[in-house]
Amino acid sequence: MMISESMNRRLNEQIGHEFGASHAYLATSCAFATHGLKVLAAKFRKQAEEERGHALKIADYVVETGGRVELTAIPAPQGAFPTVAAAIEAALEQERRVTKQIHDLVKRADEELDYATRSFLQWFVDEQVEEVSSMTALLEVAKLANGDLLKLEMYLAQVGEDDED
Ligand code: MG
Repeated sequence: MMISESMNRRLNEQIGHEFGASHAYLATSCAFATHGLKVLAAKFRKQAEEERGHALKIADYVVETGGRVELTAIPAPQGAFPTVAAAIEAALEQERRVTKQIHDLVKRADEELDYATRSFLQWFVDEQVEEVSSMTALLEVAKLANGDLLKLEMYLAQVGEDDED
């Protein structure tokens, strides 16, 4: 095995965090869809798929390095929010949590002199900068819309694709 037992366990936990993020995005996407907010729903559905991709990327790495993937339980996500801005704020908070989790993993890899995992994690470090940045921008736009959800939807439909990866 090319990673330590401890790193294996931590990576398995991160797989769970990524699936948890996917779950949360999907729940919020469905809440948006329920309220007829198709553009926001599609945006969050896409995020849910991305987070699933992150989980699978880590799972593949664990297998590749001779570790063992053990999936964890995924907590039920919040599925209702008082406002759209509150839902986006929750997503931003989640991205900040994931960023901290990734940084903790990097720190651990450094401590273990695990250069392979350190290198593998760099993609996630960069990805988190994008995620926090794009969710921050979305929150700003949602605040600007000031409750005019149709205007927000139309705006996102027009320019929303610009900040997609
Ligand atoms: Mg992720």
